[in-house]
This record gives sequence, structure tokens and C-alpha cells, in this order.
Amino acid sequence: MRWALIGASDIAATRVIPALRLSDHEIHGVLSSSETRAEEYAREHELAHSTSDLETLLSWPIDAVYVSTTNDRHAEQAVASARAGKHVLCEKPLALTIADATRMVETAREHHVVLATNHHLRAAGTHEKIRGIVRGGDLGEIYLARVGHAVGLSERLRGWRISGERPGSGVVWDILVHNVDTLRADLASDPVEVTSFTSTTSLSSLGVVDLSLCTLRFDNGVLATTSESFAVPFGRTSFEIHGSQGSLVASDVMTPDPIGEIVLTTSTGQRVIEVEDRENLYVKTLRRFEEACAGRGTPYSSGDDGRVAVASALAALRSAHERRTVTLAEVLAG
Ligand code: NDP
Repeated sequence: MRWALIGASDIAATRVIPALRLSDHEIHGVLSSSETRAEEYAREHELAHSTSDLETLLSWPIDAVYVSTTNDRHAEQAVASARAGKHVLCEKPLALTIADATRMVETAREHHVVLATNHHLRAAGTHEKIRGIVRGGDLGEIYLARVGHAVGLSERLRGWRISGERPGSGVVWDILVHNVDTLRADLASDPVEVTSFTSTTSLSSLGVVDLSLCTLRFDNGVLATTSESFAVPFGRTSFEIHGSQGSLVASDVMTPDPIGEIVLTTSTGQRVIEVEDRENLYVKTLRRFEEACAGRGTPYSSGDDGRVAVASALAALRSAHERRTVTLAEVLAG
């Protein structure tokens, strides 16, 4: 496919450009809000074209765009791209309001293009394995899930995420959305209510939320907790599911790399589950996206999936602010 990059970002440079190239896609050019930065980024990543004008980018001979600007810009750029007939792979969070997320989903539908959300963790071989175990019934009736996603924010990413200079900063928008999307996929269930606490550490002097703890009730009755942080440099990620017949404890499986271990304990004892698929998560995401654009199947995480993650983030932020349990239904109602 022929792509354009909307956003001269770190994630495009470190993950998505290499994955596009590994998958033999063509990258026509890049858009940045700054003409100079667009040119520099294009030069650095050997892209033939650069622009600071979205209309110009949308006039290029491209099939799809990858939107990886700051979170407040995703909605407008994705909607304009879908209107121009381009398929859209959009970074998470899809948007910052339900109205925007809905507009993105509806515009893509009207213009017959694919809108996918880059919740890359669904593509991990470990999570594909976890889904198989859950559906295979080894855990019995599932009661509890727990996601530990407290990490240290690397020095180079300590810009808009913690400065609060633009809407959409903080750990809820950055990490909780991934946790909820992964739980939804692995539990095959939707969250219905959320209670959360948020806090700010010394990492963010301006009071941006960089610590959160959320409890979610899913529509199949499962209760889940998630913890998120930017301020825990030595934290390891974890993902647990506990049921009447077994417990699954996975470590290092909430990362962008195809790593991590799953341990399953049942009445027959404890064993490490072999994960054969260690393929690059972004390459797998692009392959499913390309298939969906060709009319075969669906992306790992759709626009609708991204919209539920947005609703969950809004519910968590409202819960912490108003000190009460918030239902997804009330957030989705606007
Ligand atoms: P970056 O800060 O690297 O990029 C975001 C935007 O900030 C860019 O589009 C660019 O704007 C601007 N920017 C970046 N570097 C500079 C600079 N040196 N000087 C001036 N402006 C700069 O953010 P990330 O790449 O970390 O995140 C981008 C998006 O991707 C976010 O939505 C984030 O949530 C998501 N993300 C997703 C991940 C995943 O694995 N799914 C992982 C990491 C991030 P402009 O384009 O206008 O120049």
C-alpha cells in the first residue's frame, strides 16, 4: 500500500516506519505542523515528500494514512483523511471526546474506508495465546483480572505527555486506553462501570495525572483492576486472569516488543505456556490492516474499539474527579 505519515513523531520513527518498510509498503511522505520539521524528518527517514498542509498530503497518490500526532489532533486529521477516501490507521487514544470518536467512525463508514486504532497489544503473540486459553475454558469461570502497567517515561518522551500544554496529556489517555482495549479483547467482554483514583507524582510539576488505579466491572461479571504510571522506572508490566479452574499470570506482556512469559496454574500444576509467535506487533497490525482494506476481515482494533477505549478513559477521569463510580453508558450518552 502507499502511505503518508500524518505526524513527525517518535512512534513513527521508532516503530511504524521500520514496520512499514519490513512489510514492503511505500511511504510517500510526511506531514508536520512545521514545514522545516517536515523537511528534516523526511530527510532523516528518506521520505521523498514533506508538507505542513493536510490538503496537499491528501492530494498525494496514497491509499492510507498513519496518524500519530499529539492526541488532540487525531480526530480532525482522521476525519479529513477519511473524507478524502484514505484508509486510516490512527494512534490511540482515537479522540478525546465521544462526539469526535463517533464522528471518526461514522465518517469512515460513510466513505467506505477502514478506520483502525493502533492498540498494538492485541497483535502480540502472548495475547493471542491468552485469548486461546480463556476461550478454551482452562480457567473455568472467570472472576478477576489485573493489569500492571506502571512504567518509567523515557527522557525523550517527557514533552506534551506530562507538560499539560495540550489536551490529552497524562497517563489515563496514554496507558489506560491500552489496558482496557487489551482486557476487552482477551476477556471478549465490555466494561460497564469504572471507579478510579488518579494522582500526580513529582515527575509532572504541572499537576498532570501520571499515576492511576482503575477498577472496572465487565458485562460478563469479571472485575478488573488496572494500574498505570509514567513514574516507575523499574516496574515490570503484568497481566493476570483468575478463574474457578485456573489462574494465568503473564509478565512483560504490555510492551511494544514481542516478549513476555505466561504461567498457567490449574489443578494439574503450574506450567509455562509456550508462545511460538514472536513476530513484530506493528508488522502484524499492518498486515491485518492491509487485509481489512482489501475487504478481508477486520483490523485488530477498529474505530469502534478505539471509541470504547476513549469512553473508558473519560469514565476513569470523571470517576476520579467526581469521586464516584461512572457507567460507560452515561459517558457514551454524552
Ligand atoms: P511525539 O512527541 O514524538 O510526536 C507527537 C507530535 O509532537 C509529532 O507529530 C510532532 O508534531 C510533535 N513533535 C515531536 N517531536 C518534536 C520535536 N522535536 N519538536 C517539535 N515537535 C515535535 O509523540 P509519540 O510518538 O510518543 O506519540 C505520538 C502518538 O502516538 C500519540 O497519540 C501516542 O499516544 C501514540 N503512541 C502510540 C504507541 C503505540 O505503540 N501504539 C506508542 C507511543 C505513542 P508535528 O507532526 O506537527 O511536527
